Amino acid sequence: MRRPELPPFRALERRPDLRSATVIRGHAGRAHRAAESMKPARFEYFAPTSLPEAVALLQAHGDDAKLLAGGQSLVPLMNLRLAQPSVVIDLNRVSDLAYVRAEEDGRIAIGAMTRHHEVATSPLVREHCPLLADAAARIGFPAIRHRGTLGGSLSHADPVSEMPCVALALDAELVAAGRNGDRVIVASDFFQTYFTTALEPDEVLRQIRYPAMQPGEGWGFHESVRKTGDFAIVAVAATVRMADGGVAAARIAIAGVADRPVRATGAEALLAGRSGRDVLDEVADAAAATAGEAPTDIHASSGFRQRIVRVLTRRALADAMAMAEARA
Ligand SMILES: Cc1cc2nc3c(=O)[nH]c(=O)nc-3n(C[C@H](O)[C@H](O)[C@H](O)COP(=O)(O)OP(=O)(O)OC[C@H]3O[C@@H](n4cnc5c(N)ncnc54)[C@H](O)[C@@H]3O)c2cc1C
Repeated sequence: MRRPELPPFRALERRPDLRSATVIRGHAGRAHRAAESMKPARFEYFAPTSLPEAVALLQAHGDDAKLLAGGQSLVPLMNLRLAQPSVVIDLNRVSDLAYVRAEEDGRIAIGAMTRHHEVATSPLVREHCPLLADAAARIGFPAIRHRGTLGGSLSHADPVSEMPCVALALDAELVAAGRNGDRVIVASDFFQTYFTTALEPDEVLRQIRYPAMQPGEGWGFHESVRKTGDFAIVAVAATVRMADGGVAAARIAIAGVADRPVRATGAEALLAGRSGRDVLDEVADAAAATAGEAPTDIHASSGFRQRIVRVLTRRALADAMAMAEARA
């Protein structure tokens, strides 16, 4: 294994005699005492340049290690010392992890280190997975979207995040690289509970594959946020395929009502073969029932979340059906 290059502060850590009074000069020439001025707990930093090297580092350091992608979730947690990994493995120099490309099987493959901004603005994603592009554009603020990554958001598995909800709605496949090569995990198996995924400690999420939207299909995405840029309180993503004037297939995924994004399968079943809008209220009620165990927290009560799910499901399905009919 190639020895990863060390940044300057790691090089200084190799000098125990300097540790207690290590001085790093910033670009403005001001001196900081490194140990005292760091917000996160002390950690060892590696910057691998290849995926096998990153996997090997994870294997070597196990549960002590954390991968660093965009840092938009991990770094705040480290600064608050809610996360204290003793090893940080930075993926930003790993080549070939940031891309959007069309696969031969018609799927759109996106590298895990692709930034939210790229997902939101990529012509390929906008044409073939417009639900994904729309949802990515709603994440946080421009600065967050330019740093945060698709793979980071999925691996972080915040149950109110847009990307896990859309992955479930689109039945995405997540490709993990580990010691035995690649492992494909479907979105419905990937998200396990709050901030917990099916990834093994020594696996790196390397690619996510989404099916391209077909003729006769439509989508809708609605979320309830206190103000633009906030995390959603509740979000609903819906896809619909219309055939012979009725719904041939539907998928409804809801974020913010459980420990992970959930499918409203009961509501989906009600739509099968029906002509659509006349059943919207019934379907929205069934979706709200899916949210029956929604949590109460400082942002919203359980009952409020259920009411919002009903409204957002109706809107998302209405959008999806109208689009599917227009694209038939
Ligand atoms: C102010 C603010 C507002 C935000 N608003 C929203 C919002 O509205 N909606 C939303 O969804 N998110 C929001 N976020 C979070 C943002 O989307 C992050 O980009 C995302 O949660 C994590 O992605 P990241 O690339 O920054 O990952 P990091 O923070 O670097 O990592 C997050 C976790 O994932 C792990 N990880 C990262 N990459 C991989 C990989 N390839 N394989 C395995 N594990 C990996 C890390 O080890 C870490 O545990 C916001 C963040 C901030 C700071």
